[in-house]
Formats: sequence, structure tokens, C-alpha cells
Amino acid sequence: MTWSTWNVAPFVTSVFFVLGVFALYSVTFNWLTSMNHSWNINIDDDTLNSWYGVIYMLVFVFSIQTSVVGTSVSWEFMNFQLLAVTFCAYFLNIHVPYYSFWPIVLVYMVFNHSIGYWQSWGHAITLMAFFWVLNVVRVKYRDHHFAFTNYMLTGVMFGGILWFWMVLKFHISWITFVQEWIYLIIFEILLYMYIAMLSQDSAIKLRLARLASHDTLTDTENFSAYTDDIRYLFNQSRKNNEPLSMMMFDIDHFKHVNDTYGHMAGDRVLQHASMVVQTVLDENDSNVSFYRTGGEEFNIIFPGYEIDDTWSIVNQIFIAINHMKVHSDTNQIGISISVGVSEVSSDDKSTIDFYNRVDQNLYHSKRNGRMQITVD
Ligand code: GH3
Ligand code: MG
Ligand code: MG
Repeated sequence: MTWSTWNVAPFVTSVFFVLGVFALYSVTFNWLTSMNHSWNINIDDDTLNSWYGVIYMLVFVFSIQTSVVGTSVSWEFMNFQLLAVTFCAYFLNIHVPYYSFWPIVLVYMVFNHSIGYWQSWGHAITLMAFFWVLNVVRVKYRDHHFAFTNYMLTGVMFGGILWFWMVLKFHISWITFVQEWIYLIIFEILLYMYIAMLSQDSAIKLRLARLASHDTLTDTENFSAYTDDIRYLFNQSRKNNEPLSMMMFDIDHFKHVNDTYGHMAGDRVLQHASMVVQTVLDENDSNVSFYRTGGEEFNIIFPGYEIDDTWSIVNQIFIAINHMKVHSDTNQIGISISVGVSEVSSDDKSTIDFYNRVDQNLYHSKRNGRMQITVD
């Protein structure tokens, strides 16, 4: 085998061609998402995936069809087109009704010189039904036990009907019909396996990223996430001349809780306190973020808040935790917190200066008898 003679069966090359098309999609999509995140464009990954996926597949289908358009073998690339439709309908999270598929089908028929053939209209309507049924199968059965069976049943059935339209239009032989239908089935199995492998890979990546930025005990963001975020928000606040405030709290006499009720009970208190704080934040403002920065120390960042604006949330958290009761065996554990709050000032040279002032305010609350808030 040399570069000029390529003795590989067309079926084998087409398998690698199809996998290559999807691999290129996956690599370029990952690149686009990381660009999207690093430029802070804020398009959510799902929307980006849907739009990029549709555009990518349209370019693929139209460009591959260009070489055979208007010829007697313009059916040759149909399996690739059906795979593109399958990918868009089943593997992308597109929330469009099937009839919005019409304009694409019409443009394609004009492009393919097939608009004057009744068989092509039959084919087009079947194709829309295929898209619609695949969409329904995805929404209803994606996480179902029979997801793969339902996907395959739809693919096999519609594949057969769609190729039958080609028999009617191009009078292709029954042997070719069966051969193409089988190829389609094999491709659909491969596509399903390939996408399953890719999503498993990205699920692992997501889990690792979450592990790296979250505290396993309380499920709040951890110190590492705090340092990243405060640096970014501090710079943004400087650049845009916008306020930025921070609250820090530490549980009072927490060592006593551990010594009296045990370490496990202490853990439960930390989990419960975190849950209470997160609930208060969810009810108020989702832009305010919450971190476990030490053993029983927590920080809350308020982007865009002047010190006075934080008062309502700070006070709600303070009251909620001081009234919280955690059950442990026969005991009811109550705790209190000491709090420090401050705002970025023009004298702060770095995030450390800002952090130190909040910390000093917290320390002031501790020194003055605990269970109080120092704002400065
Ligand atoms: P203060 O009011 O001055 O803050 O007193 P304190 O006892 O809370 O402070 P200290 O720094 O003496 O003790 C903190 C305790 O927090 C000691 C440590 O065992 C406990 N702690 C830290 N992380 C965890 C954890 O993950 N689980 C449990 N159960 N305890 C923890
Ligand atoms: Mg403490
Ligand atoms: Mg402490």
C-alpha cells in the first residue's frame, strides 16, 4: 500500500472518515468552549454545543454532497447525511420543533436539484419524521434502560424507509439497498458507542474539575476556588471601578463542639451550617459566592456590593446560624459565629490587604466576646 494505491475497502475508509468527522467536531467544540470560558463570553456550553453542532453538520452535509449533486449517483452520500441528522436530533440538545427543519430540507432539495421529484418529497417528509421521532426518543428514553434499543429501532426503521425512497427514485438494485441499509445500521451503532465514550470522558473531566474546586465535606467551593475568584473579582472591581465586599465568619468555640459531641457531630454541624448559608444566598442573590476557606472558617464574596448593601444578607446568615439546631444522638447542638465584613478600598494593593482587613474585623468580633459582627 502506497500513497497512490490505497487498498482498503471503501467501507473501512468510510468508518474512519465518519469517526474523523465526529472527532474533529469534538476537538473543535472543546477548543470553542475553553475560548468561551477564558474570554468570559458566557454562552452556556449546551447552547454552544447545539448551534455549533448544527452549523458543523450543515457544512459537512452540503460540502460532501457538492461532488455528486445532479448526477445519477447523488444518493451515494446519503448514509453520511442520515448520520448527521441522527447526530443533530439525538446527540445534540436542540430545542427546536421538527417543522423548523423544513427550510433546511427545502434549501437542500433546491441545491440537490431534487425539488421536482415526488420521491424526493416523500423522502423529505420521512426525513422530518425521522428527526422528530429521534428527538422524542431522546427526550423520553435517553436515560432509560432501553435507550440504545429505542435509538436503534428508530434508526433501522427510518433508514429502511429512506433507502426505499432511493430505490423508487434512482432504481438502485435491491442488493445495493440492503447493503446501504446494513452500512447505516453499523454506522449508527458506531456513532452511539463513540458518543458514549466521549461523554464518559467529559463526565470524568467535569467530576475532577468539581473535586478540585469544591470541599468534599460541605460541598461548598474550597480555598483554591476562593483564591481564583477573589483575584479575578478584585481586578474587575479595580478595572471597572465597581464596589466589592466580603464577609468572613468563624464558628465560636468549635473545638468545644468536637470535644463534647465528637468529631462526627462536628462534621455534621459544618455541613448543616453550610447548607443554611447556601439557602440564604440562593434566596437572595446567586452572584454572591460562598467558600470554606479553613476548618471552621468561611468567606462570602459580594461582587458589586458596597459595604452597606451587604447588611441584609450578612444579618440573615448571622441570625439563621445562631438559631440553627443540629441533632446528634439525644443532643441538640447550637452554635454561634463571629463575623467580619469589609469593602475593597483604594489603598488595597492586593487581595491580601483586603482579606487581612476582613480578617481583622473578624478577630475584633472574637476579642470582644464572640457572636457579633464587625463592619469596617
Ligand atoms: P474560636 O471561638 O476562638 O474560634 O474557638 P475554636 O474552638 O472554634 O477555634 P480553634 O481554632 O481552637 O479550633 C478550631 C477547631 O475546628 C479545631 C479543629 O479540630 C476543628 N475542625 C477543623 N476542621 C474540622 C472538620 O473538618 N471537622 C471537625 N469536626 N472539626 C474540625
Ligand atoms: Mg472557631
Ligand atoms: Mg478558626
